[in-house]
Amino acid sequence: MPFVERTPLIAGNWKMNLDHLQAIALVQKVAWALQDARHDYAATEVAVFPPFTDLRSVQTLLAADKLSLALGAQDLSPHESGAYTGDISAAMLAKLDVAYALVGHSERRGGHGESDETVGLKARAASAAGVVPVICVGETAEDLEQHGAAAIPLAQITAALEHLPRDAEFVVAYEPVWAIGSGQAATPQQAEDVARALRERLRDVRDDERAAATRILYGGSVTSQNIAGFLGQPNVDGALVGGASLKADEFSRIVQFKKHVTAA
Ligand code: PEP
Repeated sequence: MPFVERTPLIAGNWKMNLDHLQAIALVQKVAWALQDARHDYAATEVAVFPPFTDLRSVQTLLAADKLSLALGAQDLSPHESGAYTGDISAAMLAKLDVAYALVGHSERRGGHGESDETVGLKARAASAAGVVPVICVGETAEDLEQHGAAAIPLAQITAALEHLPRDAEFVVAYEPVWAIGSGQAATPQQAEDVARALRERLRDVRDDERAAATRILYGGSVTSQNIAGFLGQPNVDGALVGGASLKADEFSRIVQFKKHVTAA
């Protein structure tokens, strides 16, 4: 596989939390904390994924204050436009400078019955509008017991990528479902084992270049205490952070994981 330096990505998934005013306050606090810490956004990319109703306010703040955080959406419609009440299209997101969209988060797969095909079609819709899909995969506790850690994530990414053009950029987020919101994170080695298997699968279903360039994030109870362990793994290129992304100080400490590594 060719050597490609992958820029780490720390992404905060706010889920269904914070109205647009609270969103502005949190982004300002994160930006100030990172400014105080002289954070280098080119060395570690930072993205926030607020609820849809907050996107316009956060976009306006980022543009007005020339902040380098990227904006993400938590979901999108697989359709371009039309009679899809309640849906939000990729083009609408792109118009708000949304750079990333989560697809297939386990809370959507589980709570809204999203199939691998739907996840793949959402990824395709995002990509077609210039929004990079962050394809979430992960096994439940039962899956882990029955099939081991990697089987379900591999099947999910393979199925999703069938719908995405071969040259499309994407990010993979490996999130063991049992680790999300449970306070029980995977070990860095567990995350690395699945991330390595995912990268090998990317090589099989795409090619060496795409496999080497694609960022694979770990998600599931990430904190400032455990982030350095994950990012110290060769195949883990960032984190998708839920609960801890709602606290400005904690999230900014996670973003600065390189300092923890140096200090250790
Ligand atoms: C998530 O929702 O993607 C997530 C990883 O949540 P938490 O960090 O709270 O486990």
